[in-house]
Amino acid sequence: MTPTEATYLGVPGTLLFALVLFGFLAAFAYTASRRWQLMTVGGFPESRWDRVGERIRGVVEFGLLQRKMFRDPYAGLYHILIFSGFVVLSIRTTTLFLEGLFPGAALPFLPGGAWEAYLLLKDVVLVTTTAGVVLALGRRHLFRKDRLDASFDADLILVLIAFLMVTDLVAGGASHALSPARASVWEPVTAAVGTLLSGSSTGTLTALYHACWWAHLVAILSFLNYLPTAKHFHVITALPNLFLRKLDPPGKMRTFDVEKAAEDGKIGVGKIQDFSWKQKLDMFTCTECGRCREICPTHLTGKPLSPKGFMVDARKALYTAAPALLDVASGRGDLGAEERLAAQRPLIGGWVDVETIWACTTCRYCESACPVGITYTDKLTDLRRFLVLDQSEFPKEAQTAFNGMERQGNPWNLSASDRDAWTAELPFEVPVMGALENRDDVEYLFWVGCAGSYEDKGKKVSRALATLMHEAGVKYAILGAEETCNGDSARRLGNELLFQMLAQQNVETMNGYGVRKIVTNCPHCLNTLKNEYPDFGGTFQVVHGTELVADLVAKGKLKLTGRIDKTVSFHDPCYLGRHNDVYDAPRELLSAIPGVSLKELPRTRDKAMCCGAGGGRMWLDEKIGARINQARYAEIEANGTDAVGVSCPFCMVMLGNAATEMSGKTETFDVLELAAQALPTHPGGEAAAS
Ligand code: SF4
Ligand code: SF4
Repeated sequence: MTPTEATYLGVPGTLLFALVLFGFLAAFAYTASRRWQLMTVGGFPESRWDRVGERIRGVVEFGLLQRKMFRDPYAGLYHILIFSGFVVLSIRTTTLFLEGLFPGAALPFLPGGAWEAYLLLKDVVLVTTTAGVVLALGRRHLFRKDRLDASFDADLILVLIAFLMVTDLVAGGASHALSPARASVWEPVTAAVGTLLSGSSTGTLTALYHACWWAHLVAILSFLNYLPTAKHFHVITALPNLFLRKLDPPGKMRTFDVEKAAEDGKIGVGKIQDFSWKQKLDMFTCTECGRCREICPTHLTGKPLSPKGFMVDARKALYTAAPALLDVASGRGDLGAEERLAAQRPLIGGWVDVETIWACTTCRYCESACPVGITYTDKLTDLRRFLVLDQSEFPKEAQTAFNGMERQGNPWNLSASDRDAWTAELPFEVPVMGALENRDDVEYLFWVGCAGSYEDKGKKVSRALATLMHEAGVKYAILGAEETCNGDSARRLGNELLFQMLAQQNVETMNGYGVRKIVTNCPHCLNTLKNEYPDFGGTFQVVHGTELVADLVAKGKLKLTGRIDKTVSFHDPCYLGRHNDVYDAPRELLSAIPGVSLKELPRTRDKAMCCGAGGGRMWLDEKIGARINQARYAEIEANGTDAVGVSCPFCMVMLGNAATEMSGKTETFDVLELAAQALPTHPGGEAAAS
């Protein structure tokens, strides 16, 4: 069909079409406005209007070019075929609507030559979009990935898209057959359909044309109205959601005034309406593609938390509560809306299992995989905040860790005064900030962390990093007994009050000493000090131990000459990699050690599987499903290397425990330990590491 042909055929029922069009649009406007009200009702405020240029770049990269979709090339291919069809055919659809309202109308911005080129492009995408639908149906039914569930909704939409392509082609073909002289060489596919239909009578062709024309446009309008009710709402919300995505460091949690929130009765999220507008937009936007659960450690080990499942359940809770919620919000409480709202199935313990809330390790695999910019860890930790601070309900093991952090400044509840006892075994003195008369030449504060101070393997790594800095002549100092837990676990276990107390104390101590640069071997400490302490007045340049040491080696300030003949896998810690984008430094350091040969794990870098300790899970029992540390260690064993290098004290404990539990052959080392063993001054000279 072209505008000219439409005029020739005299598109029927202009008035009828206008009524149908405005009826569907009015219905859509009503549904969309209800969704808007639902999104903005309740919840805490969030501002996402900063750094507009960066936001637009993200829309182009992730929305228009669909970069993340190509992590699965097959899915990326069919999705881009269908998406490009939508983009190209939107011009065609606009033209058809214009013709329906104003017979003979054409789009003014497509002059002669461009219109012909567009007709050719349109014909191509009619075919490629249909091919995309076939490939998508193949993925859903013939070679389905585990991440996908059977979905009538998905099948229905795919069939509807195919129907749109077919009706367009048949209407165009009938038009060509009715008027061969007007058939355009620029529409080869439509012309071919016209040739197939050319034996039919004029009456049949006219009826076919009208039937397809109406079916096509009514199907589009029905599709539009179906969108807000189901997962395909993402067709409308995905690009806005990408624009409004989180631009803060990924590992930074929201800071809020705990006292005020307590006064207002709004700590965390206890009800579905307590989620912020952006968190609700995430729920609207989930496409149910399941990418988020592919390497989710809780999903892989049979726990009730599957990120996709959580998001779908939260959306169901929101849509189910919507009528009562919107009645209350609009002041129609006198109709019993308050009672209806109160009688809703509860969010916690109803729609979402309590176990689901505590299962998350905050590893961020889900967030890094999601193609439409949805976040999870904020939602799960907001639920934990409500449970801990409003309800005082949390796993009993967490209480032990909270007590330790509060009383002794460490979750092991060991004596605060023993914090620097790890230095005693070193053959040189480790400078302590408070004991220095002159701190002017101290370049780095060595933030040791609780594990580095108290846990046996962690203490070895602290000694390794101190030795490496000592050998390189780095001017550093520790806080000693003045250092206290950074609060990462408290915050991620929902105890914001305790976290803020620890953060304020540490920031005060470090600012008191004029600290500017920090080195730490713990990615959890790194994340909190670097990304979360600025909210408390502490702005520091924080580097991981492997970054500093790799740099010292690259600059020739450290020589690693001792040979360590080992094949080594490297396990990326979530809080170093996915949270802080440090992937190369540990690998560079391993590569700098003579004799070490790095063999990457199949799941590596941003696709690495979590060890199970993040999000405060280090302190909780793992009672459901397989053990996450063992699942990850099994992958490491299967890689067949002599050792696995880690760069996080929590990973070290988790994988070390798994090695013992499973009588594994792969030894566990921190990369800094290996580097220190390669120093010329290491006892044993240049012998292989033991
Ligand atoms: S953060 Fe990790 S554990 Fe939590 S839901 Fe996402 S993938 Fe699963
Ligand atoms: S949250 Fe993202 S990755 Fe997970 S199912 Fe929804 S759209 Fe897919």
